[in-house]
Amino acid sequence: MEQGKKVGSTIESLRSTRTYGKFRCHNPTCMERLEPKKGQKTIKCPTCGMEFRVAWVKDGFPRIRGPVWSVNKKVAEEAFEMKMKAQDATKKESIEKKKEGK
Ligand SMILES: [Zn+2]
Repeated sequence: MEQGKKVGSTIESLRSTRTYGKFRCHNPTCMERLEPKKGQKTIKCPTCGMEFRVAWVKDGFPRIRGPVWSVNKKVAEEAFEMKMKAQDATKKESIEKKKEGK
């Protein structure tokens, strides 16, 4: 009986530490913890703006099924644009610095 009790409590402690109902954002640079509401079909990451499709393995046990490409493509394009603009700005800056140097 004593042994059975121990096994039971081990399982219980495992259960409490597991993050059922939550998963991490699949954006490798983000990894935000996401917690979809029951029955929610998609979830948007509040940190990076990526959106994911949610599959419910069972009640209260969601899994990421995959990204919502139309949304994530837009997010990626915007990020790319921002990056290019930033590069342009630094390029111009360095050219102007050279001019000033002469
Ligand atoms: Zn994210």
